[in-house]
Amino acid sequence: MDDCIFCKISRGDIPANKLYEDDEVLAFWDLNPQAPKHFLIIPKKHVVGPADLAREDEPLMGRLTRKASELADKHGIPDFRLVMNNGAKAGQSVFHLHMHVLGGRPLSWPPG
Ligand code: 5GP
Ligand code: ZN
Repeated sequence: MDDCIFCKISRGDIPANKLYEDDEVLAFWDLNPQAPKHFLIIPKKHVVGPADLAREDEPLMGRLTRKASELADKHGIPDFRLVMNNGAKAGQSVFHLHMHVLGGRPLSWPPG
């Protein structure tokens, strides 16, 4: 996707502060953090959001979740929240699937 900002980050066309990268997955710190520790983990494959996942993406989503947890542990975030926004009214602003990993402070519930 030529004009997708997260595809551009995946391709290395624009910079990001990366925590982890492999063939399938990329994690980088959020530009506008909502908690003391806030990073995003994305599939390199362009998927618009959770509602657009195909059955074949199930292993990829498992990897994303496990890698998010592993990176949270590695970066000193034992308690964290995983968030995926689907659709503008749910707060999605970048339409390339991403999981937010938030922590470093007590997090309230319910979210806004
Ligand atoms: P959404 O609102 O779609 O769930 O989350 C998109 C997130 O991407 C936001 O938290 C926003 O701060 C972050 N973001 C948007 N553009 C960039 C960027 O170019 N670099 C980084 N590191 N984060 C970005
Ligand atoms: Zn994309």
